[in-house]
Amino acid sequence: LRPFLGPQKPKLHSEHLKRSSPRLRSFPDQTPNSSSLWRWTHQTPGLEQSSPRHPRSTTCAFFSRRLTPTESRCDVGDSALLAVKLALEEWRHWLEGAELPFIIWTDYKNLIYLKEAKGLNPQQCRWSLFFSRFNFVLSYRSGSKNTKPDALSRQYASEDETAPSTILPASCIVAGVTWPIRDQVLEALKVDPGPGNGPPNRLFVPQELRGKVIHWAHTGRFSIHPGVGRTVALIRRSFWWSSLYRDVKESGSACHACAQQKGTNQSPAGLLSPLPVPSRPWSHIALDFVCGLPLSHGFSVILTIVDRFSKACHLVPLKALPSSAVTAQLLIKHIFRLHGIPTEILSDRGPQFVSRIWKEFATALGARVALTSGFHPQTNGQCERMNQELGSKLRCVYATNPSTWSDHLAWVEYAHYSHVSSATGQSPFESSLGYKPSLFPLHTDTTTTNPQFLRRARRARIAMRSTLQRTAERIQRLADRHRSPAPTYSPGQMV
Ligand SMILES: [Zn+2]
Repeated sequence: LRPFLGPQKPKLHSEHLKRSSPRLRSFPDQTPNSSSLWRWTHQTPGLEQSSPRHPRSTTCAFFSRRLTPTESRCDVGDSALLAVKLALEEWRHWLEGAELPFIIWTDYKNLIYLKEAKGLNPQQCRWSLFFSRFNFVLSYRSGSKNTKPDALSRQYASEDETAPSTILPASCIVAGVTWPIRDQVLEALKVDPGPGNGPPNRLFVPQELRGKVIHWAHTGRFSIHPGVGRTVALIRRSFWWSSLYRDVKESGSACHACAQQKGTNQSPAGLLSPLPVPSRPWSHIALDFVCGLPLSHGFSVILTIVDRFSKACHLVPLKALPSSAVTAQLLIKHIFRLHGIPTEILSDRGPQFVSRIWKEFATALGARVALTSGFHPQTNGQCERMNQELGSKLRCVYATNPSTWSDHLAWVEYAHYSHVSSATGQSPFESSLGYKPSLFPLHTDTTTTNPQFLRRARRARIAMRSTLQRTAERIQRLADRHRSPAPTYSPGQMV
């Protein structure tokens, strides 16, 4: 906003105009409709049009003007609104009376201010009247997190019971993610407020909507048919009712996709000779390949890379089984770049394969190689478990069209990240990032300072390590229960 409307950098503006002017298009001879999208931005103050045939939006018009001394004294929220108002005035003949809403993009992040602002001054009242003549929505251009408006909104909510008067109606704001199911629950709660003794920050779900909530959590793109425990954990993050577990279990056993696609879960647990338990995320990784998939956009193989600490994973679609050199490059691109160099890599593609991968780095990095030998195939149980889960999730999503699995890979990864891992008792999101990204704007964490966050993360890591250790011991005990120690043989003995 400031560089173009303020007096600071007039040169920048004129240069921008010069650069963009050859691309200026004449106005189309109709009002905005569904096939064309109009937007006005602060950064490039202009009217742009894009349509399915021209996905790259083209700029149709520019508008700029210097703020008057009075206007330049506005606070930042008002000046953002002023910019919107000036633009609407300028292009009123195109925008007023549009049947379908047009979008105004703004880089002003405090959109919530516009939604929540109270006690309108006379000027804002006039603007509010003016805005009501247009059918538009306001949206961020860059969607990064902003804690300030959140704090602002919560403060307002607790202090004042009366509905705030707003400059723009709430329906004009497009921000964050909202789920229709939550709106339905909120709507139903107006009629049936529930027992009122539920946990904080969770919505009670009335009887008639429980089936819908379970369906949302179980079949959503973000979850992909998890088991009973994970579905319950997902619902518990936002909702509650007393018979939640029983209801989820009942509807889970009736789920058609699950019954059809999932194999038995009774395969033997790996990790008979437990590996050393890592103490931080992404220090010990295990990789494996899922082969024999139907072709999807040319891909037929998935490289799975699992962090043995947080159980987080990355899934990389590939056209064919890669060589060790290519695998090394993939690891740099997908793991080392994001999580640093691991101290150990496991793979069950044979010791030569891993050692060849390490040869690419070993000299440069001085990392240790722990080979998974053919004699201990269970050592890569992490990846085998991941591949099992991946297989059942993929079968759920591509049941109708097998050639589309690569489109769903990102969602499968997200689902895995957000579900609680049985080995750690936390979701990989929590154990690797230290927080749980919420599905609802409702659940924003209270603000923490950096040292607080670090202390909490350190405590969580220590707790995780002991949980992992206990899990490893438990698995070993369970496995050994069905095994007897190897017999000792002496020369000449009949066997
Ligand atoms: Zn299911």
